[in-house]
Amino acid sequence: MKITIVQRCLICKQSTSTSICQYCIDDLILFDLQRYQHNLMYSPKVSLGLAKVDFPSVMALADYQWPISKLLTGLKFSKNVPNAHALATIFVKHCLNSIPNLPQLIIPMPLHKNRYLNRKFNQSIELAKHICKLSQLDMDTSIISRCKSTQAQTDLSAAQRRKNLHNAFEVDEVSKLRLKSLNHVALFDDVITTGTTMNCAYLCLRKHNPNLKIDVWSICLTLVH
Ligand SMILES: [Zn+2]
Repeated sequence: MKITIVQRCLICKQSTSTSICQYCIDDLILFDLQRYQHNLMYSPKVSLGLAKVDFPSVMALADYQWPISKLLTGLKFSKNVPNAHALATIFVKHCLNSIPNLPQLIIPMPLHKNRYLNRKFNQSIELAKHICKLSQLDMDTSIISRCKSTQAQTDLSAAQRRKNLHNAFEVDEVSKLRLKSLNHVALFDDVITTGTTMNCAYLCLRKHNPNLKIDVWSICLTLVH
């Protein structure tokens, strides 16, 4: 006898045997990664929105829109952990299953220690944890840390964001050695908006290992409309 566990779809709340029902999965508008050779910088909309970054490639699941945006905010602000597993499952299937070279490890975007202690939750780590588990990759949360307690970025202009983030990341002595031994990693964040935070982390890693191949991954990109 086949036992099916009935649960509620995380998006439409209808009963389903998976965390997101097939109707909602089929309704998702995801980036066409094949079309851009798994590098969304080839998409004019994306390269316009990320005009000021140094990283040459970026891969994401979708534009920051409902319902994925709702799953992300539910994870970030209400700590709805099942959302992380659901999003990671879609990310691995859509973004990672067909890429030829997977990185040695995934580095989730760190929060500043004070902010982390305050919230006790980092949604990027939650997502990366599930992505790693589903794709048999390692995660590293210690290689890069946030040394400046930067104020929330959301209300700042692009120039203010850059200033706010200048030298915001650091790599300790042990991690410097480790970083030199690596050749391919992926930096991961839940959402990339202007790309400024991601770029600072990218430049920090590059500074300590100029030959390192650094993929930039996120669940969503906020496209300029
Ligand atoms: Zn549904």
